[in-house]
Amino acid sequence: MRKKIVAGNWKMNNNFNETESLIKDLIKFSFPDDVDVMISPAFPFLKSSIDFLSNHKIEVISQNVHNKENGAYTGEVSVEMLRSIGIKKTLIGHSERRTYFNENDSILSEKIKLASQNGMEIVFCFGEQLDDRKNRNHFDKVKSQLSNTILKLDKNYWDKVILAYEPVWAIGTGENASPDQVQEMHNFIRNCIDKNYGKNISETTSILYGGSVKPSNASDIFSKDDVDGGLIGGASLNADDFHKIVISNSSL
Ligand code: PEP
Repeated sequence: MRKKIVAGNWKMNNNFNETESLIKDLIKFSFPDDVDVMISPAFPFLKSSIDFLSNHKIEVISQNVHNKENGAYTGEVSVEMLRSIGIKKTLIGHSERRTYFNENDSILSEKIKLASQNGMEIVFCFGEQLDDRKNRNHFDKVKSQLSNTILKLDKNYWDKVILAYEPVWAIGTGENASPDQVQEMHNFIRNCIDKNYGKNISETTSILYGGSVKPSNASDIFSKDDVDGGLIGGASLNADDFHKIVISNSSL
C-alpha cells in the first residue's frame, strides 16, 4: 500500500506569530487517519512548530537543506542541524531552488546522498518548464531530471523517498495540469522507477502532484491511480483550504 500524503510548502511566508496562528487554525480541524499531513514553516520556526504540534499528527518538514555536511557555508542549514531538532523529512529540488538559487542536478544529487545517508527522508521535487511541454519534450525532461539525481540513489534508501511532480508552468499560476496530464506523467514516472528498481519499489513509492492544487480541483487530481497526494503551495497558507485538500485525499 502506498502512503497518501498532503504536504504544505509554506515557502518564505509567515513570521513567528503568523506561523503559530496558522498552526492553531489547522489543529482546530480533525484530520483523517489515512492521509499523512505535513507542513513546512520557514527555518527559524521549525523547532517551535514541532513543539507546538508534539501531540498532533501533522508532521513538520523542512523546505530545503544544504548539500555539504558542515563548515564554512555562511547562511546555510545542514542535515545534522535539522535532525537535531527532530526534522525527519526535507524537500529537495523545488523549482524555486533550481531557478533562483541555481541548484543543478549535481548539487541536488549531493543533497540526496547526504540526506539519505543521515537518516533524512526526501520529498524530491522536479517537473518540466512550459517550453518543454509545448515542444513535447516533457517526458524526456522529467526522465533526465530523475536519472541524473534520485534514480542514482541506492535501492536501500528508496523507502525514504517521496516524489513530487511539479510542472513549473503550474506552480503558483492558478493553472493546474489536468488530472489526465498528471496521471499520464505519474504513470511514466512509476515506469522509470520500475525500470531502475523493480515493481516492489515502484509500486510502493508515493508520487505527489504539485501546481495550483486547490479545494476545487484536488479530488479530481487525487482520484487518479498513480497520484498519491499533493504538494501544496498557496492553498496551504489557508487552514480551511488546506484541510479541505487533505480531506479530498482520504478514502474514509
Ligand atoms: C509549490 O510551490 O510547491 C506549489 C505547488 O505551489 P502552488 O500550489 O502555489 O502552485
